[in-house]
Amino acid sequence: MSISNEPLPNLLFEYAGADVILRSHDSHHLRVPKSYIVHCSPVLDELIQKASNLPDDARGNTSLPVVHLLESGAVLHRLLTFIFPTTPLVPSTTEEAMELLSVAQKYQMVPSLAYIRYHIAQQNPPSSTHPDDAPHSYSLAQKYGLHQEALQAAQSILMKYPMNVGEWQDKLDVVPGASLYELWNYYGKVRNILAKDISEFRQSGARGTLRGLRCVKLSSSQIPCWIDSYIASIPYTPNIFNLIEFNIALARHMGDKDRNSIDCACTSISSQTMRNFWESLTSVVHGSFKKVSTIETYELLKRLKPLQAESALSLVREREESQDQANSITSQIEPLDVPDASLIIRSSDLVDFRVHKPVLAMASPFFTGLLSLPQPSKSESVDGLPVVHLPEDAELLNSLVSMLYPIRPVIPDSYDKVLHLLAACQKYNMVQIQSSVRAEVIRKGSPAPVGAEVFRAYAIARSKGLIPEMEKAARQTLDYPMTFGSLGEGLRLFEGSALRDLARFRKRYKDNLATCLRSFLEVNKSGLLKIWIGCPDVMPREPPGTNPPPALPTWLRQLLSQGNNDLFAYPLTTPSSIREKYLRAIKTHPGCSFCLWAHKTIGPAFCADLGRRLTQAQAKVHTLFPDFRAPNDPPFLRHSVTCNLPSYSTYSSFRFLAVLLASSTIPCHLQDFPEYSISLASPVYKLYLSENEP
Ligand SMILES: [Zn+2]
Ligand SMILES: [Zn+2]
Repeated sequence: MSISNEPLPNLLFEYAGADVILRSHDSHHLRVPKSYIVHCSPVLDELIQKASNLPDDARGNTSLPVVHLLESGAVLHRLLTFIFPTTPLVPSTTEEAMELLSVAQKYQMVPSLAYIRYHIAQQNPPSSTHPDDAPHSYSLAQKYGLHQEALQAAQSILMKYPMNVGEWQDKLDVVPGASLYELWNYYGKVRNILAKDISEFRQSGARGTLRGLRCVKLSSSQIPCWIDSYIASIPYTPNIFNLIEFNIALARHMGDKDRNSIDCACTSISSQTMRNFWESLTSVVHGSFKKVSTIETYELLKRLKPLQAESALSLVREREESQDQANSITSQIEPLDVPDASLIIRSSDLVDFRVHKPVLAMASPFFTGLLSLPQPSKSESVDGLPVVHLPEDAELLNSLVSMLYPIRPVIPDSYDKVLHLLAACQKYNMVQIQSSVRAEVIRKGSPAPVGAEVFRAYAIARSKGLIPEMEKAARQTLDYPMTFGSLGEGLRLFEGSALRDLARFRKRYKDNLATCLRSFLEVNKSGLLKIWIGCPDVMPREPPGTNPPPALPTWLRQLLSQGNNDLFAYPLTTPSSIREKYLRAIKTHPGCSFCLWAHKTIGPAFCADLGRRLTQAQAKVHTLFPDFRAPNDPPFLRHSVTCNLPSYSTYSSFRFLAVLLASSTIPCHLQDFPEYSISLASPVYKLYLSENEP
């Protein structure tokens, strides 16, 4: 093995008296005396002992034992400066700091961890850390499995940001879904404890710190009502716990119409009273946060465990255990009885499926390639048939095999599983099988996702590159509120920018919807909408000769103007929900014979027209293509393609383009996408053409 020639910052660790070599993954050799290391790290101690016990010829061309480590030379070097009597190299960025701490944690260097934390804090005192960094620090702490840092950052986040999707819109790709889910759980625990402690604090009359204050309205525990409601809202929005927000609440109270300056002395609260009150409230809030960290520690640690880089030894042990577990699970699936089979495909849970090589090869170019490779002479076989191991489980392979033969197709019973089946088809390039699965799901009408499953479906389809399912699920999410609470555990499945893109998609749809409904209100006065003009509630009988401006009934105007509802907290109006919303709206206006007549005459046609327009509005928005609205501007289009698609395989990108071209009302041609022109000869494109030929 070669040794990297790239010099480390200095050659400090070329000790003359070194008796062990630490070898980094990038081939740096750090020669050190082991006595220092074995004292501060039980893990390295074990690894050094193992390396020392190896026979001399296993050490290669060096005479010292070599310990192979997974870290880079730069990180190991930095770590050693905290162990040896020398000036420590303190990391300069948050990422470097977290990485260093995680390595120290991995090797169980308890005293060094404290020492490193001390130096990092010296360099960046908490007051100098920008609060906007908190989400970034939190996500790094989660990535590196650092409990203490994750908790600290989570606390800063709650103190700064309200926990709702709207406020998080531009931070959704800073914190991955899985970490966001942990943060949401942490917030739930903090909220429960805060609610209990704050309620006690209110009942105690703010621990007597506000006694004797005169105000127009006092709570049952004799503190001004506005202060009481400010305190009461802290558990639900801990970010309002600061003096600025307190003063805003005071200003609101000052502007209160009912406030009478004789009865209210709130402007002249003495600074001593204010200080006592604020100290008391601070101790309650901080106390609640502390309680949660002690409850949370074990839970969070347990959940963080799989994310943590474990020592090389325990990793091996864990892997062996999980293998044993996998072997002990037996599947309930009875594989299909295929006569004259020529190949066995074995599932991850060790069920053998007998199939015919030519059948598999015809369905999948992937297997054509695989099966044409020469078989190694010692490869595994059962009853003389070669065995191919696949990572999919028996249930999925059973469905897949059922689609290969002229028997009744086995469609999985949950939508998540359908998506995994489609993803397997995509992976093995089984284009025709994938279409058949899609057709079969549509034919059966089930399983279809509802509620939180819709968000899960979007996240899974997106991570597997299943573009049509992703677009469909994204549309279905519009029928539900999009909050951290409604996303629930599904949050964990959101990777990369998936959640941010879904939030942006929702925003674009809402904008489109507003435009669509507005134009409906304006343009259609002469069309279908005209019939609604004349409701006596808004068009009172005027004396003859006067001509009142035509007005729509209030319930209808409200339905069409969409209000300013929170984009994320409520379902949006969609083609699938408009009819129901229309019926609910007209029911709020009972006893009007005019509206009832109009409804009977035109109601169904009116709803159908609205639904059509909403469908058009919806068709214009895609999750992947925020800027797709410039048909006459190919360079712009090209730009969008190159910046949005690389996260998918070329194959998926191509499928996406095909779907886009097929579904788009905008005239565009494959020639507009020169980056993908190579795909013009691909089997997918030919399939696309054959599927879409008139
Ligand atoms: Zn007052
Ligand atoms: Zn009416």
